[in-house]
Formats: sequence, structure tokens, C-alpha cells
Amino acid sequence: EAKARGKNRYCLFTSDLSERIVFLRQLENNLRQAVGNREFTVFFQPKIDPVNGTMTGAEALVRWRKEDGTIVNPADFIPLAEETGLIIPLGEQVLEQACHMLTILERLGRPELSIAVNLSPLQFVQNNLVERILAMLDRHGIAHDRLELEITETAMMTNLAKTVDTLNQLAGAGIAIAVDDFGTGYSSLSYLKRFPIRTLKIDRSFIRDLTRDPSDDQLVETIILMAHNLGIHVVAEGVESAEQLEWLKQRRCEQIQGYVCSRPLPHEAFLAFIERSVPVPGNRGNTILERS
Ligand code: C2E
Ligand code: MG
Ligand code: MG
Ligand code: MG
Repeated sequence: EAKARGKNRYCLFTSDLSERIVFLRQLENNLRQAVGNREFTVFFQPKIDPVNGTMTGAEALVRWRKEDGTIVNPADFIPLAEETGLIIPLGEQVLEQACHMLTILERLGRPELSIAVNLSPLQFVQNNLVERILAMLDRHGIAHDRLELEITETAMMTNLAKTVDTLNQLAGAGIAIAVDDFGTGYSSLSYLKRFPIRTLKIDRSFIRDLTRDPSDDQLVETIILMAHNLGIHVVAEGVESAEQLEWLKQRRCEQIQGYVCSRPLPHEAFLAFIERSVPVPGNRGNTILERS
């Protein structure tokens, strides 16, 4: 029908716009239902210590598994979930699944592995966030320092006073804070000394051309040096080649996350990956720096 009216550009435009609105309404309804039906599942992407190749932990990455089995990536629903507030119940389900995985890891004799969970800006400014997270960890009987929360610079910068307070509460309770997508947000570096940050995750866009683009090499090298001078650990995101991995290892980047080690894995495949990985006594993901 839109095609039949295709010659009339003005008409076509309004038609496209209303189609888009209908599409978004439908997606919002589907998303609301999916939250109710718990159609969200969590994949886990291992993080590796490049020095000895052992796993230090994993990042929890949400996927929408539709009734027909298709898997939808977060880029296609997180923005709308954020806009509609559905990210709050959705994020809660992700945290629950991450906690469940932490209890499984403990039962498997791998309590040194930590799990990192992404917090959206809306979750981060939730009033009872700290209480809810601590209550959940305690309900699962999980040591607080096995959970890491990933927050983007932009989310941290929206309300500085509140951010300092929330991060201090979380860190005070033993939860590790990681800055996600470091280098891409709008921020001021002064927060690195004002906030209790354990880890910087260098954004994939700086890693992509590593070892091929000298300016990226220098940028990443400088970020690693700066982080280490501040006592902050570094994770390189999106590492895809053995050359990049070797380069990062030589510069003492503590953790590697990327397809070169593993893609994000569904529950069972992640457990199989863990069985193949070897625990190193005393090698806690968050104390690697001291061994190097
Ligand atoms: P992120 O937190 O920066 O997660 C890393 C993304 O990079 C993941 O995409 C991961 O699959 C991808 N990745 C990892 N290694 C490689 C690599 O070597 N090459 C390439 N090309 N990509 C790699 P994913 O899972 O699609 O997630 C995208 C974003 O969605 C995440 O970026 C995060 O911002 C958001 N997200 C994912 N799960 C959650 C969640 O549970 N809650 C919230 N609020 N956001 C989430
Ligand atoms: Mg992340
Ligand atoms: Mg990231
Ligand atoms: Mg990202």
C-alpha cells in the first residue's frame, strides 16, 4: 500500500513515520511481555589473564530469547528498555542470573571467578540500588567482591554528587566498579581519582586497529600506564587477534576480553569452557596486578 503511494513523497514520508511509531509500540509491548515471561537469558564472555591464559571471570551479557527460539542482541532492545523504564525489572533479572551463576561457580570449586554485570544509566540512579543489590547477594550467599558492576562514563557524569555517594556505598560493601567503554564517553579524567574505581575497560574502538595503527597503539599504551599509576586495573575489550593479545600482554594489561579468547557463551557452553580452564591457586581476578 505504501508502495502504491510511492510517487507522492510527502505521503510516503508520513507513512514511514507512522509505520515506525507502530513498530516501536509493538516492540514495547513485546518487550513488556518478555519481561513478564522472563524471556531474557544471560550469555557469559570469559575474561582472560594474558600472562598465564587463565580465566579471571566473565561479563554477563543479556540476550532476548524469543518464543520461536530467535536470539535478539541487546543493541536492538536495551535502548527502548531504557526509554520505557523496563530496564529496571530486566536488569534485576540479569543480576539474578549472574548471582545464580556465581553460586554454580562456587559449587564447582571456582570461587575465584567474578562476574561483571552492566548497569544502565537508569538503574544506576535508582534510589534503592545499593540495598537491592546487597540484599540479592546476601540472599544467594555470595561474597560481595565476586560481583563487579560496569558503568559507563556518561552514566557516572549525569549526577556527580549522587554518583560519588552510590559508588562509595557499593565499593564500601566490597563490590568492584568498572568503567565501561572507557574513552568514548563525555567525562573528565578527574573522576578517576574521585571515584572508587577498580577497573578501566578500554573500549573496543581503540583495540580494533591495535598493532596496525600507531596512534591507537600510543593511546592504549598511555591509558594502561595512567591506569596503573592510579592503581587501577585494565581490561581490553574486543581483542580479536593473537598479535593484539601479545601486545597487550607485554604492556601488562591485566585482562583480555574478546573473540580471540571466546565469544559470549550461553549457560551450558560457558560451564563447558570453565571445565577446560584451569584454576590457579591464589589467582583472584582482582589481585593479578600484585603478581606481575
Ligand atoms: P559492553 O558492555 O561494552 O559489552 C561488550 C560487547 O562487545 C558485547 O556485545 C560483546 O559481545 C562484544 N564483544 C566482545 N568481544 C568482542 C570482539 O572481540 N569483537 C567484537 N566485534 N565484539 C566483541 P553485546 O553482548 O551485543 O552487548 C552490547 C552492549 O549492550 C554492551 O556493551 C552493553 O552496553 C549492553 N548490554 C549487554 N548486556 C546488558 C545488560 O544486561 N544490561 C545493560 N544495561 N546493558 C547490557
Ligand atoms: Mg560491559
Ligand atoms: Mg564495553
Ligand atoms: Mg559497549
